[in-house]
Amino acid sequence: MKKRVLSGIRATGRLHLGNYLGAVKGMLELQKNPEYETFYMVADLHTLTTPYDKNTLSQSVRDVIIDYLAAGLDPKKSVLFVQSHVPEHLELAYLFSTVTTVAKMQHLPTFKEKVKQYPENVTMALLNYPVLMASDILIYKASLVPVGIDQEPHLEVTREIARRMNQEYGTDFPEPKRFATKGEYIPSLTGEGKMSKTVEGSYINLTDDLPIIKSKIAKIPTDAGKGSEIVGGVKTLMEFVELFEGLEEREGLERLYKTTGVRYSEIKEKLAGAIYRELEPIQKRRAELEKDPEYVDRVIREGAEKARKVAQETVAEVREKMGLR
Ligand code: ATP
Ligand code: MG
Repeated sequence: MKKRVLSGIRATGRLHLGNYLGAVKGMLELQKNPEYETFYMVADLHTLTTPYDKNTLSQSVRDVIIDYLAAGLDPKKSVLFVQSHVPEHLELAYLFSTVTTVAKMQHLPTFKEKVKQYPENVTMALLNYPVLMASDILIYKASLVPVGIDQEPHLEVTREIARRMNQEYGTDFPEPKRFATKGEYIPSLTGEGKMSKTVEGSYINLTDDLPIIKSKIAKIPTDAGKGSEIVGGVKTLMEFVELFEGLEEREGLERLYKTTGVRYSEIKEKLAGAIYRELEPIQKRRAELEKDPEYVDRVIREGAEKARKVAQETVAEVREKMGLR
């Protein structure tokens, strides 16, 4: 049997450079590898764990599917689907919650961060997020998960659940590993924390045009252009330079920073151009896809059918092993 891969993105807003470099690039790489069977979803159920707009949710879900297709995910090679179209994820998550302690969930850094971000919204669904994520992955018995480094604690939970299930009930879940990319942690444009869809001012979207990219890059906080230590917004800027213009360019600029000094206007202008060059082909494909809504509908429908087949098998097996006959 081929090894399986699962990844997903929440439908909380338009995809940004962090999602692209940290997750989608890894998804593309594994899609190319014939040794893997790849499952990529839009995590609409996970979207409900933070405040959202029910009137725009289905459009946001569709937008992520279109972003996937525009970035190069191919329904002939990968199963592209919407999480809630495969309700078996929820059934397995419930079964998994029977081997997961509340204390463990409360101590996860991702949970604590969301509690800080949305103190009025500390729900059971939020607490249960990692259990549903374990189900998303293990329902396909995926052993490799292309996601950013912020998801590592959730993967640790997934491995623990797999171990517990295998010990208690004799299932054969793999202990999945993260598939890391070079952009596994893209910092926020504000110079603090990571780039996130739900943090205003933190991101560059895949759909941003050159003037918007320029204005966003211009806002990265910098200093006088000279110093002995590279920190904060300057470090962020240097990381972007490395990712879009190469390590040599970064090292050259860092040398200048520590000697004669750098001019940020020039660096930022050049960087904005380099980012736009990478995004332009994705934007062109997106414009084509928007003209063909039936194709997008078909991708979503067929993806759900393929995913459900695998998911139903796993759930039937787990039910049987847990004594639900
Ligand atoms: P939200 O603010 O709604 O949590 P997000 O920007 O964190 O949005 P997610 O949908 O939670 O995006 O994550 C989708 C994927 O993108 C995950 O694999 C996650 O690890 C990855 N990712 C998110 N932000 C970054 C980042 N700044 N750098 C690298 N990878 C990231
Ligand atoms: Mg997130």
